[in-house]
Amino acid sequence: MVSIKQDIRIGFYVCHCGHNIASMVDCPEVASYVEKLPGVVLSRDYKYMCSDPGQELIQKDIKEFDLNRVVVASCSPLLHEHTFRTAVAAGGLNPFFFHMVNIREHDSWVHTDRKEATAKAKALARAAIRRVAHHKALEVKQVPVNPDVLVVGGGIAGIHAALTLANAGKKVYLVEREPSIGGHMAKFDKTFPTLDCAACILTPKMSSVGAHENITLWSYSEVVKMDGYVGNYTVMVKRKARFINEDLCTGCQECVANCIYKEPKFTDEFNEGLGKRKPVYIPFPQATPQVVLIDPDVCLNFKRGVLTDKCKKTCVEACGDRKAIDFKQKEQFTEIKVGTIIVATGFQTFDAKRVLPYGYGVYPNVYTAMEVERLVNASGPTSGEVILRDGRQPKAIGIIHCVGSRDKKTNRWCSRVCCMYSMKLAHLLKEHTGAEIYNFYIDIRAPGKGYEEFYDKLNEEGVHFVRGRVGEVTDWGMTPEEEGKLVIRVEDTLAGFVRRIPVDMVVLATGLEPQADAQDVRRLFNMSCGTEGFFLERHPKLAPVNTFTDGIFIAGCCQGPRDIPDTVAQAGAAAAEAMVLIDKGHVEQEPNTAYVLPDCCGCKSCLPLCPYTAITFDEATKKAVINEALCKGCGTCVSSCPSGSIAQNLFEDEEVFSEIEGVLAD
Ligand SMILES: Cc1cc2nc3c(=O)[nH]c(=O)nc-3n(C[C@H](O)[C@H](O)[C@H](O)COP(=O)(O)OP(=O)(O)OC[C@H]3O[C@@H](n4cnc5c(N)ncnc54)[C@H](O)[C@@H]3O)c2cc1C
Repeated sequence: MVSIKQDIRIGFYVCHCGHNIASMVDCPEVASYVEKLPGVVLSRDYKYMCSDPGQELIQKDIKEFDLNRVVVASCSPLLHEHTFRTAVAAGGLNPFFFHMVNIREHDSWVHTDRKEATAKAKALARAAIRRVAHHKALEVKQVPVNPDVLVVGGGIAGIHAALTLANAGKKVYLVEREPSIGGHMAKFDKTFPTLDCAACILTPKMSSVGAHENITLWSYSEVVKMDGYVGNYTVMVKRKARFINEDLCTGCQECVANCIYKEPKFTDEFNEGLGKRKPVYIPFPQATPQVVLIDPDVCLNFKRGVLTDKCKKTCVEACGDRKAIDFKQKEQFTEIKVGTIIVATGFQTFDAKRVLPYGYGVYPNVYTAMEVERLVNASGPTSGEVILRDGRQPKAIGIIHCVGSRDKKTNRWCSRVCCMYSMKLAHLLKEHTGAEIYNFYIDIRAPGKGYEEFYDKLNEEGVHFVRGRVGEVTDWGMTPEEEGKLVIRVEDTLAGFVRRIPVDMVVLATGLEPQADAQDVRRLFNMSCGTEGFFLERHPKLAPVNTFTDGIFIAGCCQGPRDIPDTVAQAGAAAAEAMVLIDKGHVEQEPNTAYVLPDCCGCKSCLPLCPYTAITFDEATKKAVINEALCKGCGTCVSSCPSGSIAQNLFEDEEVFSEIEGVLAD
């Protein structure tokens, strides 16, 4: 017979959960079995323990029977541990003198034999009774939350999150690695399905960010280090050298006009390489901030990035008394302290060269969708005129959907926006050129508001839809009509035969991928990635903007492909989650943390094992130190410490061993 200290007085409650538990477990029998166990003062079965009367029953019994431990056998602790701990506390006990047994998910729902299930419920209850006798009083600690927020990435997700927070009076640091905010959306001419002008809806938001008194905008900057824990993060931001003093530059662009290079000569990244720019430039007319920058890789005053001072510096002359140009500017590092972080680093598009049969990079008139976004744009390299690389205007255009997507050889996932943006580009290309347009699709995915109607509209406009995955694009004409054209070979799965369709221009609807440096960003912010490489949300349904690190949220395409409406909705949700923490003012910390015992030998083997970087080494005492605020109670250090010198609240040796003995006993 197991011995339990005399002063231990346990109350046990088994819940029917309607029929969820009671249909497979004989609850009254479990209650009468537990009643006879050592230390148990009373044992009850009840229909719904989580109901108000169920909780009141616990509170009443604690007082009436002088209970000092409580066990509830019901559903998963994930659902109701907090409910019962609160009830126990309301009854006057320390909430950690409570233990919960899951006899629903672990028992009634997964068994078909009532007798066996009842026996298992008894074993689990027995284990809990033995364990709870060893529970100690613990305290929930409160940590204050710094109200300032860091938003990383200035695409539409980061912009919307930053403005939402700033408009609510919160101080926001927005860090964007490119010279301007705006992300991919800043490159679009129109947006589906409404075809409203992207710049008209985006630039007012960009200007608001630039002018907002609560937002500190650091473009051309990156986060290089993050330490701390929820409510108290310390972040190091690297501000790259623009060679322009941002405070003095007025964006007049006199320096650009007077650059020693009279004509733009260098690859213009914003125009996807379709246009040219000078060494001193502003990425696009609505760029925010309206500040130029100098590219040291091509500026005459530098050689391979190193200052030579060999140029006549006509730009400096043109800047005059403003003296905004500073060739000696160095990158700067600034440390900030914030309580919460929203990561909104977006996506990159699939590299079309990886699908060799489509001839991107081989045939000049094969374009990616992003390139076409710039071609049809009034502020693009051709001022919106669709002129091919060989100087012709296209009379027939083929748009190939799902390039790199829904394919086990490249990316398995559907990129969600390609069908819709392909149809948008079909409409715009028809409008700009009057060409015959063919869309080659596997199936059309148009599930958003007004999306199916947009597809109908395209059909009415006479855009052709050919169902089938394109086999190849070639320039081998087999007939006079194919001569000098690109030929798209496809099995038309509706018509049931292979077709060869000659076109002048091919547009590849490349899918959305995680950013190339997503793994570095994941490590920097202590996040996880899904198998495809996008940042992982804590729960796909119930915590879609939370990460596994408290106080760090994700928004937009860095979490997975999505359109602008969904991105904005998610950014708003991330801002709201951050505000919950800020307005509460503190976070409560579960006391199930690990702690170092005095006999630690200082071997440091636990340090690299901690997934939350919660363990440091104290050089003075030569012992490991665990930061309670960072520790998530995963137990890795406890189980791996070679000298058994780390213990963990709520998982002390005697608690765990008594529980095991309880399960195994008869
Ligand atoms: C060709 C094409 C056409 C599209 N057309 C439409 C359309 O018409 N309508 C529609 O609803 N959707 C459209 N989409 C989808 C749309 O682009 C996305 O929904 C939207 O851009 C997502 O915004 P985001 O802020 O999450 O990401 P992004 O736009 O990618 O912005 C991310 C930002 O974060 C910055 N960043 C990245 N890493 C870091 C870092 N480490 N530190 C600091 N900053 C960083 C980037 O420079 C960028 O500015 C289209 C997509 C494509 C590919």
